[in-house]
Amino acid sequence: MAILEILTIPDTRLKHKSVDVDRFDQSLQKTIEDMFETLYASGNGIGLAAPQVGIKKRIVVIDIKKDDVSNPIAFINPKIIKLSEEKFINEEGCLSVPEYYADVERSKEVEVEWFDNAGIRKSTTFTGLMSICIQHEIDHLDGILFIDYLSKLKRKLVIEKLKKIKKKNKTNE
Ligand code: ZN
Repeated sequence: MAILEILTIPDTRLKHKSVDVDRFDQSLQKTIEDMFETLYASGNGIGLAAPQVGIKKRIVVIDIKKDDVSNPIAFINPKIIKLSEEKFINEEGCLSVPEYYADVERSKEVEVEWFDNAGIRKSTTFTGLMSICIQHEIDHLDGILFIDYLSKLKRKLVIEKLKKIKKKNKTNE
């Protein structure tokens, strides 16, 4: 297993649309394992999408602990089947937008269809944090970041701030 580098804004690779996985082989298993390891190494992440580690494939890993017990799920080619009309607003963050959090409005419930790592088709309706997380991660597969829902001005400020931090880190090296 390996910890992969997480891309951060304004890396243009985060804006690409990812393609469907068509082979459920060893290399897919390795990618999923590496993505989970990268997610756990991040310390505070609950979900990670393949494009965040530079892989243009429709793969998402999520682990939202239940009563302190790990609950890892890998979603291959996840598809939103239905979004509830009822919405809610929650604070979101993203490993690709470090140290920034903002309120985002999303559907309260989402029905998702996906394949597991063995290529078995699954479907579930998610609520709560799981609903927010899977909507956020599927957005990544289409090149959409949660800051894209903010006003233009707010988004610009976040990107400028991140650029400054990146520059500072570089001169400190
Ligand atoms: Zn994210």
